[in-house]
Amino acid sequence: MQTKVVKFGGSSLADAKHFKQVADIIHADPTRRFVVPSAPGKRHSSDTKVTDMLYRCYEMIRNHESIDEYYQQIEERYNSIIRELGLNFDMSGELEYVKNAMLHASGRDYAASRGEYLNGIVLAKYLGFDFIDAENVIFFRENGTFDEEKTNAVLGEELRRHKNAVIPGFYGCMPNGTIKTFSRGGSDITGAIVARAANADLYENWTDVSGFLMGDPRLLDNPPPIDTITYQELRELSYMGATVLHDESIFPVRYAGIPINIRNTNAPEDKGTMIVSAAEGYDKKRVITGLAGKKGFSVIHIEKDRMNAEIGFGRRVLEILEDNEISFEHLPSGIDTMSIVVATSSLEGRRERILQSITRQVKADLVEILDGLCLVAVVGRGMVKARGTAARIFDAAYNAGVNIRMIDQGSSELNIIIGVNEEDYEKTLSAIFNEFVK
Ligand code: ASP
Repeated sequence: MQTKVVKFGGSSLADAKHFKQVADIIHADPTRRFVVPSAPGKRHSSDTKVTDMLYRCYEMIRNHESIDEYYQQIEERYNSIIRELGLNFDMSGELEYVKNAMLHASGRDYAASRGEYLNGIVLAKYLGFDFIDAENVIFFRENGTFDEEKTNAVLGEELRRHKNAVIPGFYGCMPNGTIKTFSRGGSDITGAIVARAANADLYENWTDVSGFLMGDPRLLDNPPPIDTITYQELRELSYMGATVLHDESIFPVRYAGIPINIRNTNAPEDKGTMIVSAAEGYDKKRVITGLAGKKGFSVIHIEKDRMNAEIGFGRRVLEILEDNEISFEHLPSGIDTMSIVVATSSLEGRRERILQSITRQVKADLVEILDGLCLVAVVGRGMVKARGTAARIFDAAYNAGVNIRMIDQGSSELNIIIGVNEEDYEKTLSAIFNEFVK
């Protein structure tokens, strides 16, 4: 039988109504065997996520404030779910235990992790599935990094003993037995780890949007959803700030060759976005898969006569950046000019030093820093095969009256990145979007 691992985000488990939707989704497909829940998220825009409430409790305890009243609100979040689902199950013992453990200095990560832990218990009861505590199957090393080999062996073995199970997201165990969490949003990572250990055919990640859109809906007119995207394309887009999924959650499943399907709990009939290792086809009408961009870049512009003949020039310039702990994003260069694109924020407090070092150490004729650049990335596996994509991008920018200050195309031909003035950002995105999508 096929196996699917399904992860539900906090907004999909915020209240009893959502729990019912989640149960319908799971019961509709018997191959949805292993379930990874987040902690209850916001029920409305001014609500607070349970994880944030738990962090707050931890801070209150450190400040020697009483958590009695505040903790009751957390208890009520779970109790109302249990009540409204009509579950015959008393959670007061568990809730009391967690409160006491928090009061007895069990740590910040322990406090935060209880959101998932308690939610996992409720969900397992409601579904009639077994409960596997992540503490016993997800491991970190002494230095705090995730222990993939040990986890995969122990978790894989454990999963084989269960037909169906709920494994709470976000946390695992340190070698000394204390609880450690992944970074925020880390239930996505747990989902991927479980998918790998279960040798799953598919990792479904259920959230509150129907997959990835081709671009930012706040800036573009009705961007359509992306049906299929490769891991590589997704990396390119998320580097530019498009996020639905925790970055690190990709790696465990990517190497195991397990596709991820982003789905919408509130619209389960939507197919969502499939993330795959390699995709054969692409939408011939569109060529591009997605469009993203970011503001806040600067260009360090260097000119030197006969630069191209000087061996080691580039290395010496990059060494200066390295000494100043600045990472560069792009490096477009001419015959006697070199431009280094960096995040403007990384230059803070170091501008003068960098200008002086470059002038002195490589004897440049001119060194200047130009601010106010934004980058727009046009990403698509279709670009490898379709001719004229770059021409269409430049034409679109030209027709919109935008001056292109930088061009960068990776040798994978998967993306073309252009740099334009920040005030042209929205205009450029729309122009390219209209050219390829509308
Ligand atoms: N509950 C955790 C958070 O809010 C983890 C997650 O939701 O994935 O970050």
